[in-house]
Amino acid sequence: MKNILLACLIFFSSSVLAQQTYIHCGKLIDVEDGKVLNDMTIVVENNLIKSVKKGLKTTPEGATLIDLSSKTVMPGLFDMHVHIEGQTSKTKYMDKFVKNDADVAFESTVYAKRTLMAGFTSVRDLGGSGVNTSLRDAIKKGYVVGPTIYSAGKSIATTGGHADPTNGYKDDLMGNPGPKEGVINGEAEARQAVRQRYKNGADVIKITATGGVLSVAKSGQNPQFFEDELRAIVETANDYGMLTAAHAHGDEGMQRAIRAGIKTIEHGTLMSEETMELMKQYDTYYVPTITAGKTVAELAEIPGYYPELVVPKAKEIGPKIQNTFSKAYKKGVKIAFGTDAGVFYHGENGREFAYMVEAGMPAIETIQSATLVPASLLKVDNLYGSIKAGKIADIIAVDDNPLEDIKTMESVSFVMKGGEVYKNE
Ligand SMILES: [Zn+2]
Repeated sequence: MKNILLACLIFFSSSVLAQQTYIHCGKLIDVEDGKVLNDMTIVVENNLIKSVKKGLKTTPEGATLIDLSSKTVMPGLFDMHVHIEGQTSKTKYMDKFVKNDADVAFESTVYAKRTLMAGFTSVRDLGGSGVNTSLRDAIKKGYVVGPTIYSAGKSIATTGGHADPTNGYKDDLMGNPGPKEGVINGEAEARQAVRQRYKNGADVIKITATGGVLSVAKSGQNPQFFEDELRAIVETANDYGMLTAAHAHGDEGMQRAIRAGIKTIEHGTLMSEETMELMKQYDTYYVPTITAGKTVAELAEIPGYYPELVVPKAKEIGPKIQNTFSKAYKKGVKIAFGTDAGVFYHGENGREFAYMVEAGMPAIETIQSATLVPASLLKVDNLYGSIKAGKIADIIAVDDNPLEDIKTMESVSFVMKGGEVYKNE
């Protein structure tokens, strides 16, 4: 009796567990070989890719067929720079005084879903209040629909720097936020801030190496850390296995960050040729965020949209990123795809592809920069970043061949994450 029960149990659990899905792909982008393959079948079992076969294979009994034979299929995309907690609006600067964390949290679920529906199955959140880390966990548990999130928690700045949360406040509200809130001065506080983030559950460390466009502060490009502070941050982050990212517009701050060992430079607007060489020497990656640059320049034309101090910075710095990207790519700087979504509307992340192609990067390389490259930077390439047997079934599709029409990346029509279908138009 016991044996029969056991046999039933094994039979039942194996038939439940081995749910197979056959995906017929008209075209399949092999990001590892940089090729487009015709008529392929992906077999998905539960949350994993079981095999990838030539031809449109007959679906066995009990398996589900997903017909994408008129579409181009590729791995789920990564955006290496988003801020999932909020997005641009005229009231953005007042929001932090009127919204509770719970308000932010509920709102962020909407942005998370939009991001996933746009084909981005993984994102690196480079700075918020900490709701980003909770959102990551809620998505992982299945409470909320959204991408896999690699969260930086709250960014690290110096006093008055780009991510000092009290910039622009009146004196008595300004206070003196310390390492816990992400404001450091000196090596000891730099280490403390990184360790605090580790304790809070962050996956990656984000710093603001120079002034920024949207902070209520005068300079959008001055260096804001000393090299000893930067080294303390990188060394501590390395001890905890955390990837480091530096927001940087100005050249001097960028160079200091690169020499200290920061792994990705975000925006990189005023990057000199010397800095590009330095990035190659130090194996630093460039995350361009062209879409954000273009958006802030446009929004700065609307009277009253941004505070007075922000407008000239947005007009000056925003439009320059695409040209810098073009030069850096041609010089051989390694590129990882990132948009700064939140500075523009979530779900429009795919716009970045066309801007990259326009600047001279071949379409296939833009797709590799959003799949293979980030997966390896985040050290998850054993499970993510390409469509190969044994990897997690994060799979998307677009209507046209992006190598012929890159704009098709802006309207993703099929999204599977972890073997589950979230969109199939
Ligand atoms: Zn950002």
